[in-house]
Amino acid sequence: MLGKIINKFFMSRNERILQNLNDLVIKINLLEKNLLKLSDNELKKKTNEFKLRLKYGDTIDSLLPEAFSVVREASKRVFGMRHFDVQILGGIILHRQCIAEMRTGEGKTLTATLPAYLNALLGNGVHIVTMNDYLAKRDANKNRILFEFLGLSVGINIAGISQEDKKIAYLADITYGTNHEYGFDYLRDNMVFCRTQKVQRKLYFALIDEVDSILIDEARTPLVVSGSIENSNTLYQKINSLVSFLIPKNKKNSNKISQLGDFYIDYKQRQIHLTETGLIKIEKLLVKYNFLLKKESLYLSKNIFFVHHMLLALKAHYIFLKNIDYIIQNRKIIIVDEHTGRVMSGRRWSDGLHQAIEAKEGLCIQNDNQTLAAITLQNYFRLYTKLSGMTGTAATEAFEFNSIYNLDTVVIPTNQPMIRSDMPDLIYLSEIDKINAVISDIRDCVIRKQPVLVGTVSIEKSEQISRLLKKINIPHNVLNAKKHAQEAEIISQAGEPSAVTIATNMAGRGTDIVLGGINDRSKNNKKYNFKKNSLFVKSWDEKNKLVVKSGGLHIIGTERHESRRIDNQLRGRSGRQGDPGSSRFYLSLDDSLIRLFASDNIINFIRTIGIKPGQSIKHPWLSIAIESAQKKIENQNFDTRKQLLEYDNIVNEQRAVIYNERDKLINQSNIHDHVLSILKDRIYFCIKQYVSGGKISIDSFLALEKELKNNFYYIKPKNKFLAHDTSLYKNVDKLIELIVATIQFNYNKQITSIAHKYSYMIEKSVVLQILDIFWIEHLNSVDFLRHSIHLRGYAQQDPQQEYKRESFFMFQTMLEGIKNNVIKNLINIFYIDFERKKNTYINLIDQKDYNSFHIFIMKSIDIK
Ligand code: ADP
Ligand code: MG
Repeated sequence: MLGKIINKFFMSRNERILQNLNDLVIKINLLEKNLLKLSDNELKKKTNEFKLRLKYGDTIDSLLPEAFSVVREASKRVFGMRHFDVQILGGIILHRQCIAEMRTGEGKTLTATLPAYLNALLGNGVHIVTMNDYLAKRDANKNRILFEFLGLSVGINIAGISQEDKKIAYLADITYGTNHEYGFDYLRDNMVFCRTQKVQRKLYFALIDEVDSILIDEARTPLVVSGSIENSNTLYQKINSLVSFLIPKNKKNSNKISQLGDFYIDYKQRQIHLTETGLIKIEKLLVKYNFLLKKESLYLSKNIFFVHHMLLALKAHYIFLKNIDYIIQNRKIIIVDEHTGRVMSGRRWSDGLHQAIEAKEGLCIQNDNQTLAAITLQNYFRLYTKLSGMTGTAATEAFEFNSIYNLDTVVIPTNQPMIRSDMPDLIYLSEIDKINAVISDIRDCVIRKQPVLVGTVSIEKSEQISRLLKKINIPHNVLNAKKHAQEAEIISQAGEPSAVTIATNMAGRGTDIVLGGINDRSKNNKKYNFKKNSLFVKSWDEKNKLVVKSGGLHIIGTERHESRRIDNQLRGRSGRQGDPGSSRFYLSLDDSLIRLFASDNIINFIRTIGIKPGQSIKHPWLSIAIESAQKKIENQNFDTRKQLLEYDNIVNEQRAVIYNERDKLINQSNIHDHVLSILKDRIYFCIKQYVSGGKISIDSFLALEKELKNNFYYIKPKNKFLAHDTSLYKNVDKLIELIVATIQFNYNKQITSIAHKYSYMIEKSVVLQILDIFWIEHLNSVDFLRHSIHLRGYAQQDPQQEYKRESFFMFQTMLEGIKNNVIKNLINIFYIDFERKKNTYINLIDQKDYNSFHIFIMKSIDIK
């Protein structure tokens, strides 16, 4: 009942919107006769005229009627296709940031040219988003003819093209590409070290084709750029075997045999510290087992990681205990949360510790897979100033489009009345009965010369039907949505007389099925010089007539999908542009939808009616029950997506902060002032710990000086200001100012031992890399938090609130960590081994080998 009211409300609202647009459509139609008179050249000049008028006060809204009619006129001239009035309607809806539901075959590709042209006039770039590379190329290459005729450029953005080609594609007025590629480019653009490496411009207008598939079906999994961190697995095992040679020095014997201990265990900090004797022993062991050459020092920087590995192995043996810190399940190490005692499936300790423990337990050592960057499709597309989309099936998801993307859905009427006959579902007792009925329906079609498209929910089902058809010698094609181009070719032939095509849901989506076979209507124009009487066209006419007489394209659904939208999508392949056609879904009590979601009433109903094996039943009541089962699942899936988004929204704000910061850094020629201000911030932080009551004691000052020396290479100025002016002990602000000035002065002096050109690049590289390291680590920790937070539910806490609180805290900690490490590392790089490395820095920069330069810097970075 409520559904009906909502439906009615929805429809009347829809009609109202369309009604309001009527005048605009009439206006666009009236403009046509003036354009008829223009020569091709005069028509082309319109683009520049519009651009100019935009500069002098016109808006794209005020230009809409003229611009649309120019596109329509150009399309008539280059394609021989005149945009239908319903396409003009669709174009307006798309321009107004809504979702246009236009049935399959209504010509959405051509519809998109209208808002794409209009919005491209602003020069900000329009992105047309397609489901796969094949469709991006197909639509770009087709519409390129129209856009270039009007003086606009077209780019194609697909996976695997060079960075230069990507830049060109993004600079074009209109870019065609896949959702994944756009999203990944965004993430990758935020990982570069230099502005010129970015490929995207500011995101302005995205027009998404098959929008339900992209914003709903694909929105369940985020886009993730990940890097596998290779482990030298045997190294873990070998180092592990050395552990037994080392002797711990514990508290009890620390006095007596302190010289004999190789390492000390700090249980509180959960750390291991190696002693001098330990280090010597390790060096000897490494030489003995051929890790080091004789007389080679463990302290060479290339060997220092052995110490790291040794420490990990010792930690694994002495600090991390089986059944306390972790358990072993299915030959995998599962972490046990130290606070709650809960197991944390899927989580891994970082930095090689997990591997060290795997080695200790003699398990297979696994590579780490780290998330380098991630975003949900929802949040990527919300970055655009303007967003709109089109599809054959949106109305069932109108609520989600509205609540998540703020997009209203408008159903555009079809160009020709729809005459497809959708027959009621047939329900069988068993799967076998159902499949037999499907096969016999297919056979009848073939005999009638009617083409038939069979939709399945899985590749397995497709193959089962294929096997049965082979047995009775019915030729057919099977599509699995894998080879897009090839499958598009097959789909375009699926309307041939007697053609049998079996396809999973997504297969061939976006390609038209024309009754009679390959679609040559578009070529049927003067530009292509197609003669009406040519043999080819004639035989197509014959085939077309034959198929129309046989009833048009017949659709068979072998199961109902979880979502009504996917079923509608399948049905929609037939009955396009007023074509005849029919559709029927076959179900059985074995179908998982009915087993899991339909109420017992249905099953009892069917049983009481008492159908026999092989017989079927159809009843409106059943159709309603099935639809309500589908709605149940749709709601569940919506909740899952909504939850994913709600969690991502929190990270999304943090991502915006980090990416903004990154952008600022990248866009500056140097970030030296930024470095100095972090330095100041850290010095303040350090001094504040020694100040009490606005004063600093002499003892504290001495301690402070030591720390300043360790942390910032603080060298007292010659005039020793404190000796001259003891009042400074009380005037802490002044003191801090002097210290900051001294340290900054020293730092500036130190970095000018090479030209600024080099030192500034070192600063930038260090800051960006540390930012990235922390952000990546944060993403991974937050991700882990998200997966474990639901456990908090048991403690009467709202997991989402908890997540929000904790991830906020983690973010703050991360920002502090970045600042600390930036300074520590810069001081380290410029003061400690600068002399030794500075020629390498200079050489790499002079040779413009920036990649190696950044890697060289990365190797020097040490995160604490
Ligand atoms: P959709 O994406 O809506 O399913 P397509 O964009 O694939 O439909 O178009 C289906 C077919 O209709 C294409 O062959 C296209 O060339 C043709 N077509 C679209 N618009 C027109 C038009 N205004 N006049 C003639 N043919 C058209
Ligand atoms: Mg399409």
